[in-house]
Amino acid sequence: MWQAKRTNTVYLYPKIGKAKLMQRNIVVIGGGVVGLSSAIALARAGWSVRLVDADPDRRAASWGNAGHIAIEQVAPLASWATVRSLPRRRFGAGGAVSLPPSAWRHWLPFGLRLLGAARPSVFARGQAALGGLLAEAMPAWQRLSASLDTPDLLRVQGHIVAWSSPASVEAGRRAWAAANIGTAAFRDATPAELLQLPGRAMAGAIRFTNTAQISDLGALNQALRAALVAAGGSILRGSATLALAGGEARLAIDGAPVPGADQLLVAAGVASGGVLAPLGHRVPIIAERGYHLRATDHDWPADLPPLVFEDRSMIVTRYAGCVQAASFVEFAGIDTPPDPAKWARLEAHITALGLPLRPPFTRWTGARPTLPDYLPAIGRSAKAGNLLYAFGHQHLGLTLAAITGERIAALAEGSAADLAPFDLQRFHA
Ligand SMILES: Cc1cc2nc3c(=O)[nH]c(=O)nc-3n(C[C@H](O)[C@H](O)[C@H](O)COP(=O)(O)OP(=O)(O)OC[C@H]3O[C@@H](n4cnc5c(N)ncnc54)[C@H](O)[C@@H]3O)c2cc1C
Repeated sequence: MWQAKRTNTVYLYPKIGKAKLMQRNIVVIGGGVVGLSSAIALARAGWSVRLVDADPDRRAASWGNAGHIAIEQVAPLASWATVRSLPRRRFGAGGAVSLPPSAWRHWLPFGLRLLGAARPSVFARGQAALGGLLAEAMPAWQRLSASLDTPDLLRVQGHIVAWSSPASVEAGRRAWAAANIGTAAFRDATPAELLQLPGRAMAGAIRFTNTAQISDLGALNQALRAALVAAGGSILRGSATLALAGGEARLAIDGAPVPGADQLLVAAGVASGGVLAPLGHRVPIIAERGYHLRATDHDWPADLPPLVFEDRSMIVTRYAGCVQAASFVEFAGIDTPPDPAKWARLEAHITALGLPLRPPFTRWTGARPTLPDYLPAIGRSAKAGNLLYAFGHQHLGLTLAAITGERIAALAEGSAADLAPFDLQRFHA
């Protein structure tokens, strides 16, 4: 396919003299951080982009996460180490992992697939693939944030992991020293840094030096939307559905067919499985839900990077207008009602640690879009020739958003470099 340079126009079939003029246009389904980053990259590559999103109140995971650019999390969580640790990580045992009995239809088949993906050979392949993507994640974020009008959104000032007992300091340090952390680096926290931590004294901490945080998720949302519009894209509100016709996906928004959507990108987070189902894709995605509390009344140090209380699996992030404490991995359905015991546990952690956060707290729960091998799905549909997808980024959707956008723009232009491990066909889906 030959394409006219620097325009939105593609001439198809030039060699057979049947030049058909058509727009290089694409509709992106989903306005979370993955959909927006992809839409911006596509628009800047010359595509005419419309983005459709069903989340006017910004309840999606993209706007309630911990804000951490976690390039150190190279080991997929589908591993024997994770499986072995499950008994002590159960919510009932004081840990962060929750398998609500009412949601067994979701987590049982997912768990069986996870066990398969945790086999050492599959884990090793996944780690290599995820490591490759994570190695590019920070440079991609630096490029994206430098191109936005809002300064200081990306702060490359590391993060801190702290422990409350000498025994957990020793075990935690040893585990991080043995872990594959890719391009990330850490050192012991200095005594001064340890003293600076808010709340009761911690027994020890390490400081990652080249990880990052997003300083304000609301400002990020606005900056990404503004960048998309500035690049010529448009944003529609509504719920998208797909149908298959003649080997291609056809789009409807709020039930009304949308003509002229030549290419489509599904980036609908945890809803992506449902969006793709009418095309014949059977995607084994689960809602891996997390919970947060936010406080606007606090005495949190302004310049403290994200702080992980690893004994409690809780991360506390200072945002521009609040401080947020987040935790839990609850395997459920998209619509499973939230469990108030999770927010109560977060409050108990805050009290036990003596953190300077005061009620009222705002409560939120949101779903990480997770596939059983803990790799994202990024690729081109084998069922519909005009359909791309980018979802399933589990705990790393914020971290991987910018590099995913770049990869999607390249894929739309015909390059599939490095994307084979992320193809949905690995699930025969
Ligand atoms: C508590 C918690 C903490 C986290 N912390 C971090 C972190 O520190 N760092 C990190 O990298 N990641 C983190 N994550 C994970 C990260 O938030 C997710 O991986 C990421 O937000 C996924 O982004 P997304 O754009 O794919 O999906 P989403 O944010 O879920 O966005 C999907 C969008 O698609 C829309 N949509 C769905 N269906 C349709 C439809 N049919 N039509 C139109 N629109 C539709 C939705 O309304 C939504 O706006 C965390 C997650 C949680 C829950």
